[in-house]
Amino acid sequence: MDKLFAAVDDYFIEKLVENDPIFDQILANNQKYQLPPHDVSPSQGKFLYLLAKIKGAKRILEIGTLGGYSTLWFAKALSHDGEVISLEFDTKHAEVAKENLALAGVSDKTNILVGAASDSLEKMVQAQTPAFDLIFIDADKENNSVYLKYALQLARPGTIIIGDNVVRDGAVIDTTSSDGRVNGVRSFVDDLSNSSRLTSTAIETVGVKGYDGFTISIVEK
Ligand code: SAM
Repeated sequence: MDKLFAAVDDYFIEKLVENDPIFDQILANNQKYQLPPHDVSPSQGKFLYLLAKIKGAKRILEIGTLGGYSTLWFAKALSHDGEVISLEFDTKHAEVAKENLALAGVSDKTNILVGAASDSLEKMVQAQTPAFDLIFIDADKENNSVYLKYALQLARPGTIIIGDNVVRDGAVIDTTSSDGRVNGVRSFVDDLSNSSRLTSTAIETVGVKGYDGFTISIVEK
């Protein structure tokens, strides 16, 4: 079944996903620098792009940059005065991302903050950074609840919050899991469920990146 899911994804990628060679260049560059292949898929990147467009997002916060592949999808969705701030712990990943985003000509719209995401988020809260329109949580899943707490402080009514990799081949329903990432996602889903400020759902996905999924929430108040 996995082969079929990937083949169907390839079909839609070929038909519907923008064929700008810069995206492939970025993925090739990530490979060259031996970054882990944990970027969103092309269909998922296009989906994030569409969400940002539908929202008319001008300020996007991404937690987890890697080589900047999803960052570029967001940057392309922005108007000329928009900005993506992306948080990355690993200095090598951040350097590759900066190189990739310069290659794509979007350095002026993207700002990679290097360091532990929780530190950067705390600084942004302290500095009373203006609210974001869309927040994408895609770093160490163990800390998803921490990132959600900060995301809510950096949001306003109408902000969209997306959490990536929440299905994990179905492991999300394993109540006995000792995997910190699974338990991080489960706590995050509990927090979404219990939040009086959020309306949320989760969507399972299949395709070239296997069986996974994302949550999507809107901040109501
Ligand atoms: N959003 C990227 C994309 O789709 O192209 C993929 C991000 S990858 C799944 C997760 C990234 O989060 C990695 O580059 C990793 O180094 C970074 N990361 C992990 N722990 C972190 C932390 N505590 N603070 C900031 N970044 C972290």
